[in-house]
Amino acid sequence: MTAYDPENIFAKILRKEIPSFRVYEDDETYCFMDIMPRSDGHCLVIPKTPCRNILDATPAQLAACMATVSKVANAAKAAFNADGITLQQFSEVAGGQEVFHLHFHIHPRHEGVSLRPPGTMGDMDVIKSNAEAIRAKIDQ
Ligand code: AMP
Repeated sequence: MTAYDPENIFAKILRKEIPSFRVYEDDETYCFMDIMPRSDGHCLVIPKTPCRNILDATPAQLAACMATVSKVANAAKAAFNADGITLQQFSEVAGGQEVFHLHFHIHPRHEGVSLRPPGTMGDMDVIKSNAEAIRAKIDQ
């Protein structure tokens, strides 16, 4: 398996070398908004420690991420009055992965509304306000 590259964009986000819209963090994990959102409220949960994807993650990294996924998914469902949640994880190029630091996509979903295609930059003001909406539900 290819080695973890500490210059990947999410590692830079963790080091605060590039900005992100923070949703939640604890000692082990960080959650921030996807800047090319495929749903309103699309956000990402990552471990703060290095690993490439599901194939090299430790049980402790996965457990920490899932605890945060559960917390944020419930908050995002409430914030967007969603009917459900889609959780995505892509591992390696063949699996659809583009950024090689383990991450889980959280999508609030509404009946009959499809995910948008990937790769279109979102409106930063909307993304910022969506992060605030999710944060407000976590703080309750
Ligand atoms: P994937 O590796 O295919 O699971 O997806 C990587 C995700 O990272 C995509 O949904 C991108 O929109 C997202 N992304 C890429 N760069 C950034 C960034 N600087 N901040 C937030 N999300 C990003």
